[in-house]
Amino acid sequence: MRVSIVGTGYVGLVTGACLADKGLQVRCIDIDAERVRQVNLAQAPIHEPGLDTLLKRTAGANLQATTDLAEAVRRSDVTMIAVGTPLCNGRIDLQYVQAAAHQIGAALRDRQGGRYHVTVVKSTVVPGTTNNVVIPALEAASGQRAGEDFGVGVNPEFLTEGQAIADFMAPDRIVLGGLDERTIDVLEDLYATFPDAPRIRTNNSTAELIKYTSNALLATMISFANEIGNLASAMRDVDVAEVMRGVHNSNYLSPRLADGTRLRAPITSFLEAGCGFGGSCLPKDVRALITHGTEAGASMRLLQAVIDTNVAQPSRLVDLARAGLGTLDRKRVTVLGLAFKPDTDDLRESPAFPIIDQLLSEGALVTAHDPVAMAGARKRSNGKSVAFAEHLDQAIEAADAVVIVTRWDQFDELPRIIAAHDKQPLVVDGRRMLPRNSVAKYAGIGLGTP
Ligand code: NAD
Repeated sequence: MRVSIVGTGYVGLVTGACLADKGLQVRCIDIDAERVRQVNLAQAPIHEPGLDTLLKRTAGANLQATTDLAEAVRRSDVTMIAVGTPLCNGRIDLQYVQAAAHQIGAALRDRQGGRYHVTVVKSTVVPGTTNNVVIPALEAASGQRAGEDFGVGVNPEFLTEGQAIADFMAPDRIVLGGLDERTIDVLEDLYATFPDAPRIRTNNSTAELIKYTSNALLATMISFANEIGNLASAMRDVDVAEVMRGVHNSNYLSPRLADGTRLRAPITSFLEAGCGFGGSCLPKDVRALITHGTEAGASMRLLQAVIDTNVAQPSRLVDLARAGLGTLDRKRVTVLGLAFKPDTDDLRESPAFPIIDQLLSEGALVTAHDPVAMAGARKRSNGKSVAFAEHLDQAIEAADAVVIVTRWDQFDELPRIIAAHDKQPLVVDGRRMLPRNSVAKYAGIGLGTP
């Protein structure tokens, strides 16, 4: 099977490298020539554990990167669209998907013979996009008919940044949407080397909504836990961590086996108070679904509340720092963790940035540190008066408060590092990752103050 993938970002590159490692012939396409060059040199342009190793095995062999979309599409049986779908005024901006569909269609016009070519949308798009936007663009540019001359499907991606390779290689499900059975059968061939993964064969719009519903559920869990955490904070003697431990131990979430051991459902990690969700997917997808649902005449009140809670959450950490220090004006505050989650350098929608902005607006002297995302953060800070510290030790030197935003394993060392300093800063634990008595001055999200 020969596959071309339009868009060599997180999703396109991880998909391409993994499929190539499974033995498929893969061409990753991007408009960014530098990215293409790096991939062909087996250098990962993004930080993702295991990606460098995969590229070393596949780049130049059965994985090739190119800027020549037309040639790559002509030489493939399946073309995946994995370009960005950023949010613009509450809606997903379809310009990249439309451009990709148009270019693929134009390439199909010149394609001679071969198998029933299938274009499959991997980008996250609201229900109806593939049928109402992608298919018309492909038909107009190719002069051919979908369902007769070529197939069109939807194969949403569920990988999590930071564990993307493992997620892709051992998928919990493979959703195969298609405009006809023939399309879905071609997609089955594409995933033939993943025989154990459960398939969901469905139509395009259902496949699109499966992806949004999955992300909206995770976002809802997080905002729910934060709402309970904020209630706990307002009380004198309640700790949300204990509340959630009690909730997690329900048989619904952690079933007890006959031998007394418990199976802990990974979803429990979304049921913990924190700084709110960020990243390139959850905030964008929930907002896009709200607009889509509202325009379709379905009320999305619950999801609007999920977003409202999330937008307010980062300022809770600033409140804790201010309460602990009396004022933030002229206080040295260190923000630890800039990536939206550990094991990635992705800064998109990270709660660290509203926290930094609010600290600066209240007169704090802000230092920031992240184990891998420093270069991107420096670029993004663009003139703001934030000091960047390369090392954790250096970051907390002279700090009045340290605010933990991302649960990096490296920050487990904080109590030991802080203990070696004369000055003991207030630690505002936005992820509840440290034992509360491991440092002299501690304030945790969702921890009632007596
Ligand atoms: P990204 O921004 O990292 O990558 C998109 C790439 O597409 C860029 O490198 C860009 O240069 C390229 N591109 C744009 N137009 C092109 C064109 N016409 N031809 C060739 N290349 C083109 O995006 P991403 O994070 O990989 O996300 C892609 C899609 O997958 C989005 O819809 C996103 O919502 C969805 N998704 C992302 C994740 C994730 O964790 N990042 C997970 C699941 C789904």
